[in-house]
Amino acid sequence: MKFLVILLFSGFITDCRGNSSSVLPPKLLLVSFDGFRADYLQNYEFPHLQNFIKEGVLVEHVKNVFITKTFPNHYSIVTGLYEESHGIVANSMYDAATKKHFSDFNDKDPFWWNEAVPIWVTNQLQENRSSAAAMWPGTDVLIHNTTPSYFMNYSPSVSFRERLNNVTMWLNNSSPPVTFATLYWEEPDASGHKYGPEDKENMSRVLREIDDHVGDLVQRLKMLGLWENLNVIITSDHGMAQCSQSRVINLGRCLDPSAYTIIDLTPIAAILPKINITMVYNKLKMCDPHLNVYLREDIPERFYYRHNDRIQPIILVADEGWTIVLNESSPKLGDHGYDNSLPSMHPFLAAHGPAFHKGYKHSTINSVDIYPMMCHILGLKPQPNNGTFGHTKCLLVDQWCINLPEAIGIVIGALLILTTLTCLIIILQNRLSVPRPFSRLQLQEEDDDPLIG
Ligand SMILES: [Zn+2]
Repeated sequence: MKFLVILLFSGFITDCRGNSSSVLPPKLLLVSFDGFRADYLQNYEFPHLQNFIKEGVLVEHVKNVFITKTFPNHYSIVTGLYEESHGIVANSMYDAATKKHFSDFNDKDPFWWNEAVPIWVTNQLQENRSSAAAMWPGTDVLIHNTTPSYFMNYSPSVSFRERLNNVTMWLNNSSPPVTFATLYWEEPDASGHKYGPEDKENMSRVLREIDDHVGDLVQRLKMLGLWENLNVIITSDHGMAQCSQSRVINLGRCLDPSAYTIIDLTPIAAILPKINITMVYNKLKMCDPHLNVYLREDIPERFYYRHNDRIQPIILVADEGWTIVLNESSPKLGDHGYDNSLPSMHPFLAAHGPAFHKGYKHSTINSVDIYPMMCHILGLKPQPNNGTFGHTKCLLVDQWCINLPEAIGIVIGALLILTTLTCLIIILQNRLSVPRPFSRLQLQEEDDDPLIG
């Protein structure tokens, strides 16, 4: 009896503890290392990142959105929308109706961002929650009249250490608690452009630094006691393709520059013709075999890149590794922006924390699927989006999932077991079959025969 009381009482205590911990809202830190091409993980050494993955999950390829540029892809990750739907359709944009311009250094006008609601805004609309950002495109802009409660104005000269210190400080002691935070770093994008992704010597040095940053991040989270309860996603916006001096498309040779305005140049050019769209289109169409020329309404469906006025009337898409230039200028050694079906344009995703499985590998998801997954982890109602929550279920501990190869394996296994059992039963039935007693009887009869005789 005494034992029973103790048992019941201890059960009651555990239950209370369980309830009190589940009251704490889940927390999520979203990290982006700009231009981290998916196959860097296979081709270079990442001891810290591999440890992170060993205790968490890895998605080997994230299919990002077209055009595979920085601003558009970072906004897709935090909204779950294709570019035509969230409105950040390039790093350089022009809006004909308002005559407004947008560029990397002129991005603070909410006009450009207000077509969507990023997750840090939705998170802050929840009672008793705040968001923080150590630099992510858009986090220093008043989107729908809101910035994260804690944020840094964008400056590429602020060190990784400073960004990390700020974001972990905010995650650690703020009231109301910071439940969603972002951390952004410009590498390995900057070096990928400079050296090209195939420059093993320089890229291995740069990627070792990235790995050290991951090591610092994990160490700091452990030191602050955040590591066990914080969900951390490490991902990127796009990959990087090797370019070359010999793969250049010179637009100036094809058409008089006075016939059009160039809003964005390479590897996806956005062209605003000054007079006759058809004439400009026809001339560009003949320009170069490595240049795909589309009228906005004819852009392939699979790009989801048509239905927005900020997409210019003519879009030029260079083949992988080709650079569009106006004069004889030299191309960068690495670039991105190309077709989002190219593996070289894909980033990866790794995640760790109470929401994620441990030691699980997944082949691919879409970058727009990250948003509904993050909303699920944070318990937020997602805004309408282009992502599919089901694609990320296998990564999450609270979801039941079965992938196709596993399903086929289970069906084949079950069929094999059934067939074996059926065969066994048939064999056994034959062995124990009824004629035996008769044959014995017959034997006995035969045995008896000589006696009778
Ligand atoms: Zn870049």
